[in-house]
This record gives sequence, structure tokens and C-alpha cells, in this order.
Amino acid sequence: MLSEFEIIQRYFVRPSPRTVLGAGDDAALIEASTGMELAVSTDMLVSGQHFFVDAEPRLLGHKSLAVNLSDMAAMGARPRWATLSLALPESVLCDGEKWLQAFAEGFFELAHAHQVDLIGGDTTKGPLNICMTIIGEVAKGKALRRSGARRGDDIWISGRLGDAALALANQQGHIVLEPAEIEASLPALLAPQPRVELGQRLIGLARSAIDVSDGLLADLEHILKRSKVGAIIRLQEINCPASIKKRLPQPLALKCLLAGGDDYELCFTAPTAKRAKIEWLSREQRIALTRIGTITEGEDLIVIDAAGRSIALEAKGYDHFRA
Ligand code: ADP
Ligand code: MG
Repeated sequence: MLSEFEIIQRYFVRPSPRTVLGAGDDAALIEASTGMELAVSTDMLVSGQHFFVDAEPRLLGHKSLAVNLSDMAAMGARPRWATLSLALPESVLCDGEKWLQAFAEGFFELAHAHQVDLIGGDTTKGPLNICMTIIGEVAKGKALRRSGARRGDDIWISGRLGDAALALANQQGHIVLEPAEIEASLPALLAPQPRVELGQRLIGLARSAIDVSDGLLADLEHILKRSKVGAIIRLQEINCPASIKKRLPQPLALKCLLAGGDDYELCFTAPTAKRAKIEWLSREQRIALTRIGTITEGEDLIVIDAAGRSIALEAKGYDHFRA
């Protein structure tokens, strides 16, 4: 079996051209660019909790970095460095290095695409656990915070919501999708594509932002709390797969759309005066950007249907979804 040192050397030490001193010493050394602040975020993925134990390691390598990149996107930061801490079980260490090889491939493919250097980490034996810290840069005072939403702001969503939760519901047997529907939604669950470039381009346009990782309502609620405002959301405006649209307002479809996790889209608010610029950005980036509602006074989060009726979220099990 490989030693800890061999695992690190063989699979995780790679050239880190954007770093003063990379992995291999007691600490890495990084230098921030002039005029920039550092944005730092950590995510832990636990086997059984965030992914199935037998999950495809290549996709796991991709996803563990993708969820961290998504946090950088939500701040408007450019991701630059990452550290990776792994607890690896016996099963992973005794498979002829297939797991390690595939995990590292999935990780570094995405890291290279976003020019992120892996600059350190820790490696131990234990139940499979993947903990990553990412460090990015954002111009001083410009980061997109949750606290910036103001009354009258439009609420926008990138891409579409519900795919990952729908694919998961299918895997868990809560719903039976047609093959074409699975094909349309599964990539969002297995290999999310974080909105890294979009996030940076929203600086100067958006007033607040968050990435949708726990479901639209739960994440929007964070913006509302931090900004001390309310919101009204128009259900029929939310961009979603046809497989969800045709099943609305069934509880499962509603749940996937409003409370499903793992979307990794950006939810942001912006003054109405920025509409034209945001629509232009949407065309330029080839990412759908949709206005789904408005920031209001007070603190209520209201969802209305096409007829303008408020949807009783509690009756739909809203609280239950969040538990
Ligand atoms: P220390 O004993 O100082 O904690 P380690 O022996 O744990 O150092 O790690 C040696 C070097 O390898 C360090 O620079 C560390 O950051 C790096 N490293 C350890 N695990 C990983 C990993 N999974 N990915 C990238 N670098 C790693
Ligand atoms: Mg160590």
C-alpha cells in the first residue's frame, strides 16, 4: 500500500505556477495582487451525507472543487489557490490506485480550466472525507455580499433550477423519469459547472449575490436576512427543465424547484436600471439570466403562481424540506 508521502507526491503535487511556494514545505506562500482582497471559503464533503460511498471518483474530484468555485463565483472573486484535505478509507487505498488516479484527474481537469493552483492540504486514513479550502481575489471593497439587496431590486437567477434535485429524486426512487429527462438533468447532479466567470462579471451590476446550493428559498432567505428585506417570487418565471414544468404544482416538482439542493446557480439582486446590461451579459456569456421576482419591504418571502395567488409553502411541506 502507498505511504502517505507517496500518495501526496504521486497524485497531488503538481506545478503551481501562480504561487510563491507550493506544496512540500510546512506552509505554502501566496501573494495577493495589488489592490485585491482575498476571498476564502471551505467546504467539506462527507461520504454518505453529500455523496454515495460508491460515487464515481472522477466526478467526486470535479464536484469537490466545483462547489468551492461556486462560492468564489457568488462573491465575484477570481479563484486562485486551493488546499485539499483527504481522509481515505482502506477500500480506496487498496484498489490499485484506481480511485486516487481518477479523483486527481477530475480535480485537476477543473483546476486547470480555472487556473487554480493546489498549494497544500493534509492526507490521513479514515472514513472518506474531502475537505477543500479555496482562496480567490476580488477588487478591494467590491465583493458581492449577501447584505447588499435593496427594496425594488430585481431578483435574478442564472441557468435553471431543479435539475440536480430531480435527478437525485429519480436515483432514490421517489420519481420515475423518462430516459430523455434523466439525460437532461443528470449532468447537473454529477458534474455541476460553477458560474465563475459570470460572478466576476456581475461586479458593478449586482448589489447582492449567493450561490444556490441548498435550494432557492433557503438561499434567498440568507440574502433577505442579511439585507433586512423581503421578496416576492413569481413561480412561473423560474427557469427549469420541462420535466419539472409539466409536473407543477405537484409537491415533488415544487420541492425540486424551490427547495432542491446542488444547483450551484447564482441568485443575485440588482437595481432595475441594470436590466439592459445584465441581459447583454447573458447573451455574451451564453447563460440564461432570468428575473424571477422583486425585493420588497419587510421580511416576508412570498411565492406567487401565475394567477397571482400566494403559494402556501408550509402546506407544501416547505419547512419539512429544510429540516
Ligand atoms: P505536515 O507534517 O507539516 O502537516 P504533511 O506531511 O502533512 O506536512 O504534508 C506535506 C506537504 O504536502 C505539505 O506541504 C502539505 O500541504 C502537502 N499535502 C498534504 N496532503 C496534500 C493533499 N491531499 N493535496 C495537496 N497537498 C498536500
Ligand atoms: Mg499533515
